[in-house]
Amino acid sequence: MAKDEMSCSFCGRAKSDTNILIAGIDAHICDRCVEQAYGIVLEEEQSKNLGDLSSDLLLKKPMEIREFLDEYVIGQDQTKKVMSVAVYNHYKRLLQELNGDDQDIEIEKSNILMVGQTGTGKTLVAKTIARMLNVPLAIVDATVLTEAGYVGEDVEGILTKLLQAADYDVEKAERGIIFIDEIDKIARKSDNPSITRDVSGEGVQQALLKLLEGSVVNVPPKGGRKHPDQKFIEVNTKDILFVAGGAFDGIERIISKRLNMQAVGYKSTVEGDLIDRKNLMQYIIPKDIKDYGLIPEIIGRLPVLTHMDPLDRTTLRAILTEPKNALIKQYEKLFDMDGIKFSITDDALDYIVDKALEYKLGARGLRSLCEAILTDAMYELPSKDEVKELVVDKDYTVHALNKNLLQRLEVAS
Ligand code: ADP
Repeated sequence: MAKDEMSCSFCGRAKSDTNILIAGIDAHICDRCVEQAYGIVLEEEQSKNLGDLSSDLLLKKPMEIREFLDEYVIGQDQTKKVMSVAVYNHYKRLLQELNGDDQDIEIEKSNILMVGQTGTGKTLVAKTIARMLNVPLAIVDATVLTEAGYVGEDVEGILTKLLQAADYDVEKAERGIIFIDEIDKIARKSDNPSITRDVSGEGVQQALLKLLEGSVVNVPPKGGRKHPDQKFIEVNTKDILFVAGGAFDGIERIISKRLNMQAVGYKSTVEGDLIDRKNLMQYIIPKDIKDYGLIPEIIGRLPVLTHMDPLDRTTLRAILTEPKNALIKQYEKLFDMDGIKFSITDDALDYIVDKALEYKLGARGLRSLCEAILTDAMYELPSKDEVKELVVDKDYTVHALNKNLLQRLEVAS
């Protein structure tokens, strides 16, 4: 080192031996030391995050979880309440493990089973919870498991998805949430006439059971068969929260039969209340799920059972405008980016809801209806600098829907 040559104050390397030497007030640091220091910072943050888990989690009481859900999910009161408690307890259980507390009382997992028609918000609830907790979420479809036949591998594929959602951070994945959609489709064939396929349902259920019970699974990081040479990653499923959802088509018949039988006996099922025949799902109990064809072991591992209410007019109407990222708010934003103030009248919104109900499109259909109404405007207006406002009223809506969507729906139905 020449006598006056600058050097890194951390490792002592001379300026000529470094790529970059950054000057501070009284010292210098070289590129290598910056990298090392950054590595230390990252490690420190990671270990702090783990520690923070405890403080973080305790902050979210069930009522706060519920409030967060309320911002995104309309209605579904029972599910929101049950979910909030289940998630709270799940993370309490994690804390107990983290703190090495009294292991005599082992808190069991609160995996959840949501039963309700498609499009009523099951996935949305799971997504919202994952967003709030900032944990990775994998959404998988149980029907895929049936089709493949190669059961074991595919069930592990569920964990591949979770690993990917966690950017391959195994610890993060191990505290994640897995949403298994269409769990009803792997029900074993029962006397329920609506289930016509005798898929190898029971085999898939058994494989799934292993995951739900909590075990260490060798996971192919890139997924199944296409990459046979990859190294497996071990993932422990014991702290993963599983949320299963399904429409369980036809289960109302099982519920109704049970309720009638009980009514014949002396005990009225719903004490004092009349049975609400329009929404039988609300009376669901685990036995109905068993009668539908899920094996008792699976049901036992999904101990929190909740139902989704069908979406009525009021709920559909609210879904259009109330959630934090409601459809109408999204369109306002889109137009706003072109400097156009977008608004839609109440009777136009009512008309959209009417059509969604009439064509049984559900909440998902609201999006297609809005697209059909607004596509022309979204196409034309950005090029018309003079247009600064768009007010969509009922006439506009009726016209646009007739032109763009309803004829097609008529043909389809
Ligand atoms: P499911 O999983 O029950 O089939 P989703 O959660 O996928 O239904 O719902 C489809 C879409 O419909 C959601 O993305 C959301 O935009 C809307 N939606 C459904 N139910 C609700 C609800 N209760 N509150 C707000 N939006 C809803």
